[in-house]
Amino acid sequence: MRTPMVAGNWKLNGTRESVRELSLAVAEGAKEFADVDVLVCPVYVHIGDVAANIEGGAVLLGAQDVAMQDEGAFTGEVSAPMLVEYGCTHVIVGHSERRALFGDDDATVAAKFIAAQRGGLVPVLCVGETLEEREAGDTEAVVVRQLKAVIDAAGVQALNNAVVAYEPVWAIGTGKTASPEQAQAVHQSVRQTVAGIDASVAQSLRVLYGGSVKAENARELFAQADIDGGLIGGAALKSDEFLKICSAAAGLE
Ligand code: PEP
Repeated sequence: MRTPMVAGNWKLNGTRESVRELSLAVAEGAKEFADVDVLVCPVYVHIGDVAANIEGGAVLLGAQDVAMQDEGAFTGEVSAPMLVEYGCTHVIVGHSERRALFGDDDATVAAKFIAAQRGGLVPVLCVGETLEEREAGDTEAVVVRQLKAVIDAAGVQALNNAVVAYEPVWAIGTGKTASPEQAQAVHQSVRQTVAGIDASVAQSLRVLYGGSVKAENARELFAQADIDGGLIGGAALKSDEFLKICSAAAGLE
């Protein structure tokens, strides 16, 4: 049995006060969902505050990106050991916004994945196709290429200590969600790709869906055989909505 996970990617949002309110509310509400791993990923500068706000509770803390290096002359970067020191257990790597806006290619994402694990973090590896790629019939090829770039660099066993998030780029922040069938088809192909190399890694790998997940569509998505929870952007900024999504992952709503 794979424990469901619901991860909130807060992106570049929040004042110190709004992040305080959000993290306290999520920490309080998440107490109800012992059977779901609830993760929040604030911007770097808020990580210390959020760690204090959720302390002693069940909510996990993650970052939205990580340096490929551990330390040195890399102005502006934050490394995995630094994130661990501030209470992070997870980090998102390869988010489509990083890939599209900041030039994170497959090799960079693989290097960040490895750096995350080297420093003691569990990477949440994002993969997903653009609308153009989907319309060209390349969805599976793109997702498998992104996944294999990491497997080739880190080895398939590295996925024992990682989470994959399938996030179709055309569904992120657009209000367009992949249908449960569309999402399941890609999740299944992710799992089959891994199973082709190591069946037991594939069996225990959590594959989250991300892309305009809301309380109203979460239940149907999470009911799919290969969908193990969600990576949530916009809806993670409202604690009540986010907690309803956690509730759906817990099978309660
Ligand atoms: C995301 O940022 O990873 C995401 C899925 O965003 P949204 O839920 O807003 O589509």
